[in-house]
Amino acid sequence: MKTQRSAELMDEALRLIPGGVNSPVRAFQAVGGRPLFLARGAGAHVWDVDGNRYIDYLGSWGPLIAGHAHARVVQALQETTAQGTSFGAPCELEVQLARKVVERVASVEKVRMVNSGTEATLSAIRLARGATGRDLVVKVQGCYHGHVDALLIQAGSGMATLAIPGSPGVPESVVAQTLVVPFNSLDAMEQVLEARGQEIACVILEPIAGNMGVIPPVDGYLAGVRELTSQQGVVFILDEVMTGFRVHAGGAQALYGIDPDLTTLGKILGGGLPVGAYGGKAALMDQVAPQGPIYQAGTLSGNPLAMRAGLETLALTEEPGFYEGLEERSAQLARGLAAAAREAGVPTYHTRVGAMMCTFFTDGPVVDWDGAARCDTARYAAWFRALLKRGIYVAPSQFEALFVSSAHTEADIDATIEAAAQAFQEN
Ligand code: PMP
Repeated sequence: MKTQRSAELMDEALRLIPGGVNSPVRAFQAVGGRPLFLARGAGAHVWDVDGNRYIDYLGSWGPLIAGHAHARVVQALQETTAQGTSFGAPCELEVQLARKVVERVASVEKVRMVNSGTEATLSAIRLARGATGRDLVVKVQGCYHGHVDALLIQAGSGMATLAIPGSPGVPESVVAQTLVVPFNSLDAMEQVLEARGQEIACVILEPIAGNMGVIPPVDGYLAGVRELTSQQGVVFILDEVMTGFRVHAGGAQALYGIDPDLTTLGKILGGGLPVGAYGGKAALMDQVAPQGPIYQAGTLSGNPLAMRAGLETLALTEEPGFYEGLEERSAQLARGLAAAAREAGVPTYHTRVGAMMCTFFTDGPVVDWDGAARCDTARYAAWFRALLKRGIYVAPSQFEALFVSSAHTEADIDATIEAAAQAFQEN
């Protein structure tokens, strides 16, 4: 496989950009080798700058549920671009996308658009703190909510450890306000809420963890957290940046029947352009400026180009049979991967909810960060490289999700399973 042009670009990027990349996991450090520079995408495929083609399961880390450069999205963006890309004044497309979010996400009565998932979660916790007059935040081990200081916490162990900063530059005093509990443990959540409930502004978690591999919630976990937070007047923030519009038309909250106070969104909501959003009960959202005192703003927030990409992408997901087709392809892939691993005698544990899934290199089960951390990451890295060599592009880390889009055909999935079988054999 020729990768000379990618190598040249990386050499120059390393001189100009820290680590050569604008977001760390892209650098391939977890899997070895050097990153590929991508030049083009169409449907389920991407091409690198050396002309190699890959079946893509990264989907830009989730937004591209309808595949790359969908003709309808491209045309919509061309039309909108010609009318001006940003005004910094209200535009009709903002109202349309807000209406769409409120229609589709049951718990959301009002929504504010921002420019990334990180902005969405930081704004949501500010709102929770402002509204409750409390400072503490409870986050869940292994959940990722963007690079917000208060949420960038190294996974601690055990119950509600007072967190240590996950990065230099995050003050101890900031993370001292964050309590960490393990995923899928209602006992741990109950203990922390009972002990300190009256000081806690919010609990934030991913309904399906997607940043420590993919870990579905155990039965009753989300409903239990909802009940415990309600009892203590704690704001429950469901981070649906990844799961929103992916696992169900109405997000994970529709799938599991959960009614959070606030929801954060991103990825698919922007259809591949930079968009995030936070929304929820009107009584909370009305406390955001200018209606209320809690400040949050953005030069490019709600710009017409990003709104249009989101609207068109969501419209595609409303075509008849969209989620059913996605479910069928995703199930086909998950079944095939599990069978191929079994055949090759490679110990793996497979998780999937709709069009997000993970192959954990462990004999599992994986229900929390401790389980995920036991995986054989070296073996994952070798599998990743063996797949890449065969034209299959999956996430360059064990602790990420594999995303299926509506552009993946049965033939793409068959080819992927075939390549994966060989890659397992090589391991
Ligand atoms: N929340 C979740 C659940 C995410 O998966 C991510 C990004 N992967 C974020 C928040 C942060 O979003 P962004 O990268 O757009 O800032």
